Amino acid sequence: MSKIRADRSVCEGIGMCETQADEYFMVDDDGFVEVLQEDVPEADRALVAAAVASCPVAALKLEG
Ligand code: SF4
Repeated sequence: MSKIRADRSVCEGIGMCETQADEYFMVDDDGFVEVLQEDVPEADRALVAAAVASCPVAALKLEG
């Protein structure tokens, strides 16, 4: 199982992550990413990895 790490101090609220994997990421009312589910099962790893890679300011990491 992999884990999502998000650095909200870097996030610019662009929302690429939410667009690609809205079960895991949401841009909240303050305009920063909120991780809805930190644990990523193997079946969703590629989906979440693509969403993490799409962040233009590298605010997201997928560990494990
Ligand atoms: S893609 Fe990056 S900058 Fe955009 S909302 Fe997600 S974490 Fe924030």
